[in-house]
Amino acid sequence: MRILIANDDGIYSPGLLALAQVAKEFAEVRIYAPDVEQSSMGHAITHSRPLSLRPTPIGSFEAYRVNGTPADCVALGVHMWEKVDLVLSGINLGPNLGNAMWHSGTLAAAKQAALLGLRGIAFSTPTQGSEPDFARLRPYVTRVLEMLIAEPSLCLVNVNLPPEPSGICWAHQSVRHYDGRVVPGQDPMGRQHFWLTVVPVEEVEEGTDRWAVERGLVSMTPLRLDLTDAEALNRLRAPPASR
Ligand code: MN
Repeated sequence: MRILIANDDGIYSPGLLALAQVAKEFAEVRIYAPDVEQSSMGHAITHSRPLSLRPTPIGSFEAYRVNGTPADCVALGVHMWEKVDLVLSGINLGPNLGNAMWHSGTLAAAKQAALLGLRGIAFSTPTQGSEPDFARLRPYVTRVLEMLIAEPSLCLVNVNLPPEPSGICWAHQSVRHYDGRVVPGQDPMGRQHFWLTVVPVEEVEEGTDRWAVERGLVSMTPLRLDLTDAEALNRLRAPPASR
């Protein structure tokens, strides 16, 4: 079995090494990751300039740093390394819960795998000002991989790990709230500028990823590529009601 590992925090992130160390218990591992941080780049791909990759061993792992986005890394990695079975992304330094999935470069790397007909799993964890305790997370990453590898029908899964996990659960994506805010400020010259930032979401809906992680549970959210609003489509396609 071959596992390709990518991320959006960049190839030198400790989260990537932590994930690779767990993955090697399951398979042959190779790393293709961005040369600099690409967080919140979503599913961007680079098409207006060529990409290059440079061998950059990470620990004992064969690894390549790519001057592109997370999705670029997976596209290139799958092209370079034949017969990849599974793509893992992360472990991201920061959560990717609910609507944050729309911006996530971490998830985009896993999504690129799904687009290519492979399986992708994204891993994220909050940082809370300090580096995550990867030794504490490790048994849960192992257990999640055992569970998900055994479910080949799942092509794309988003996993969030709380800092001190006490269990694992399946969870829905929470979409009722959006945590993105524009915060105005001033530069040293007195000119106005803006931070696009996130604020904590207060309300959480039961059974969602955010709800699970707040309760110390690892959330696993199965995703699909089809964004179609099936309910709306059926309604719009239905013949008009007779009067
Ligand atoms: Mn990131």
